[in-house]
Amino acid sequence: MAGMIADHASAASSRPPEDIRPAIRIEALRKTYAASGREPEKVALKGVDLTIPQGSIFGLLGPNGAGKSTLINIMAGLVRKTAGRVEIWGFDQDVNPRQSRAAIGVMPQELNIDPFLSPRVSLEVQAGLYGVPRRERWTDELLEFVGLTEQAEAYARNLSGGMKRRLLMAKALVHRPQVLVLDEPTAGVDIGLREMLWTNVRRLNREGMTIILTTHYLEEAQDMCDEIAIIDRGALITRAPTRELLAMTDRKTLVIDPGPGALPTFQLPEGVTATRRPDGALALAYAPSRLRADEVLDALRGADIPILDVATEEANLEDAFRELTRT
Ligand code: ADP
Ligand code: MG
Repeated sequence: MAGMIADHASAASSRPPEDIRPAIRIEALRKTYAASGREPEKVALKGVDLTIPQGSIFGLLGPNGAGKSTLINIMAGLVRKTAGRVEIWGFDQDVNPRQSRAAIGVMPQELNIDPFLSPRVSLEVQAGLYGVPRRERWTDELLEFVGLTEQAEAYARNLSGGMKRRLLMAKALVHRPQVLVLDEPTAGVDIGLREMLWTNVRRLNREGMTIILTTHYLEEAQDMCDEIAIIDRGALITRAPTRELLAMTDRKTLVIDPGPGALPTFQLPEGVTATRRPDGALALAYAPSRLRADEVLDALRGADIPILDVATEEANLEDAFRELTRT
């Protein structure tokens, strides 16, 4: 997989110095979708400033409708911004649209694939769109990279959802971009594909590619991302190294089935909050950095509360938001 990333020798003369340039620089970015039919005008981005360093795996997190896809699609040149500045790999989108587009590849959230093209043809068409000369194409390597060698000649309409996603990853890479953006790549995919995606992402990143991804799964972001930005209702709420963000969301919940009947009063270790859920389960939220699960459970045993079953719930993105937006 040598030479995954373009050296762009031909564009070298117009590039700013490599060492100081961020992969992405976004300033005061605004997007308003115009009203259409019954749909009123919609403000999707309310002035976002964001700089993403070269070489990172950067997570863009936020609830549905936050503006993540809008932000990504603007970077990719697929959605027109309303105002603000976008610079990709040192190229201002408005000044050098061609170079800025060449530096970024996007794996979109939607499975938008031509049903009548095979993966091989799809990649060739995409390479054509990006003006990749035939001798520089690497279709076979890409098919291999995403595990579609056997399906190379199949009609896309016969591919499973997972195979379509593999194809989308390959399409994003045809022009060997310096920045790869993945929009919810693992939403609803099976474990095998999830692992393939993350193995590939790590490998590309090791070779120097800057990765930007969105995901709903905080744990996934935790494993993958060096840094995370959280966006909500079109605004950037926070941006921090993943370690720091997790420190803010130091929370787990033990969910106990104590069986039917009323519970005796009991004493819990400091910092644990107990809630009885409508289904009778006892939910005990605690900070794993300060307490161990068995200390929480011991408190229940000490009060003779039956533990018929126990499950844990990890902190999720919602918890992160609750922590971060609490004033
Ligand atoms: P996310 O990817 O974080 O879920 P999106 O960027 O898709 O968020 O959407 C942000 C907001 O913009 C939402 O309120 C959404 O309904 C709206 N939106 C997205 N795309 C369009 C569009 N093509 N036309 C009108 N509104 C849109
Ligand atoms: Mg989205």
